[in-house]
Amino acid sequence: MMISHLARSIAPSPTLALNDEARLMRERGDPVINMGIGEPKNKAPITAILSSAAQLSTGDIKYTPPDGTPSLKKAVIRYTEDNYQRSVKPENVIISAGAKQSIFNVLYSILDPQDEVILLAPYWVSYPEMIKMVYGVPVVVTPEDGSFVPEMKDIERALSPYTKAIIVNSPNNPSGAVFPAELISEIVALCERKKIYLITDDIYHKLVFDGNHAIPAYTCTEKDVDDSMIIVVNGVSKLYGMTGFRIGWTIANRRLVEAMVNVQAQTTSCTSVVLQSAAEGALTGMQNVVEALRLTIENNRNVIMQELKAFNGIWVNRPGGTFYCLPDFRAYRKDSVELARFLLKKALVVTVPGKEFGMEGYLRLSYAGSVKDITTAVERIKWALDPNSPNEIYLGDRKVIRDWL
Ligand code: PMP
Repeated sequence: MMISHLARSIAPSPTLALNDEARLMRERGDPVINMGIGEPKNKAPITAILSSAAQLSTGDIKYTPPDGTPSLKKAVIRYTEDNYQRSVKPENVIISAGAKQSIFNVLYSILDPQDEVILLAPYWVSYPEMIKMVYGVPVVVTPEDGSFVPEMKDIERALSPYTKAIIVNSPNNPSGAVFPAELISEIVALCERKKIYLITDDIYHKLVFDGNHAIPAYTCTEKDVDDSMIIVVNGVSKLYGMTGFRIGWTIANRRLVEAMVNVQAQTTSCTSVVLQSAAEGALTGMQNVVEALRLTIENNRNVIMQELKAFNGIWVNRPGGTFYCLPDFRAYRKDSVELARFLLKKALVVTVPGKEFGMEGYLRLSYAGSVKDITTAVERIKWALDPNSPNEIYLGDRKVIRDWL
C-alpha cells in the first residue's frame, strides 16, 4: 500500500500508545490512575443537553450553512462581546468541529508551502503536526529560564521573511502558564507591525486561578477585527466539559473567514446541527457551571502543588491556569517517554511525556480528576522513583516490584 510522504511524516502520538497500554492494563483489572487525561470530569450543562435533545426530537437533522447555524453564531458573537469586549459580525465567525479543526482550517487558509509558524515551547502537541500537514514549517522558541514564558527578544530572533503566524496558547497546555498582559500586548504590537497573524488558542481562557484573568489579545489593539492580525480560536470542550460534542469556532477578519468557509464547505460541509444546538445551549445557559469547574480545578491545583512540593528532585512551576502542570523530572530520567512508560508499568499512573510538547525530561500531569486520584498518583510516583522506598508494594490487590533505577 502506498502512503504519501506527507502522511508518513506525521508523528504517531506516544500518548495514544500509552493510553492504549493503560486501557489494556485496566481491562486486566489493574487499578490504573489516569493523570494524562485532557478533559474535565464535569457533565455537559443541562441547557446543552436539552437544546440538542430538542433539535434531535424534531427529526429535522439536515446540513447547516458551512460556517454554522445563524443562532450559534449569534451566541458566539455575544460570548465574544461579553468576554473579549469586542463586537464582531457574523462574517467574522466560523463554527468548526472542535477548536482542533478550527486551528487546522486557519493554518490551511493562511500558509503557503514553506511558510513558517512560530510556536512557543512548551506547545500543544498538535500544532507542529498540523503545520506540517499544510506544508508549513514550525519554528520553535524555547524559554531558557525554565519559566515557560517566552521572551520577546527570542520571538523576534525567530522571525524570518517566511514567518506567517505566531501561535499563543495562554493559559497554556501543557505548562498551565498564563502569559503576562505586557507580553501579550508586545506580541500583538509585533504582529501588527510585521503583518504576521497572531493565532490565540483560548480554549482554557476562563480556567485561570488566584483571581487573575487571561488577557484577550483584542484588548491590546484599537484595530477593528477586519483590520487586525488577530485570530481567536475557542470552543466548548474544556470550559463546559463538552469534549465529545466537537464544537469550536474562529473569529478573524472576514476575508480569512471567507476562505475558511470555502475550505470547510469542500471538506466537512458543516458541523452537525445537533451538536451546534448543544453548544448554543451551553453558551446561552447559566454560566455558573464554568465558575464551578474553575473552583474545583483551582482546588485540585493547590492539592497537586502541595503533593509535588514534598517530592525531592522534582521542580515545578505553579500553574496559573488550565488543569495541567509540567514538572521537571530530569533529576530522575532524561528520557520522558521511557519515564512515562516506567511509571505506567510500575506505579500504574498514566502521564504524558514532555517530549511531545517540546520539553524533554518533563512530564505533563493533569489534575482534572479527583483529589484522591491526584494524591494517590503522586504517592505512587514517589514510591516508584525514590531509591529508598521498599522494592515491593501492593497497588490495590496487585503486587508491584520496582526493578529499575
Ligand atoms: N487547543 C489546545 C491547547 C488543547 O489542549 C485542545 C484539546 N486538547 C484543543 C485546542 C482542541 O480542543 P477541541 O476539543 O475543541 O478540538
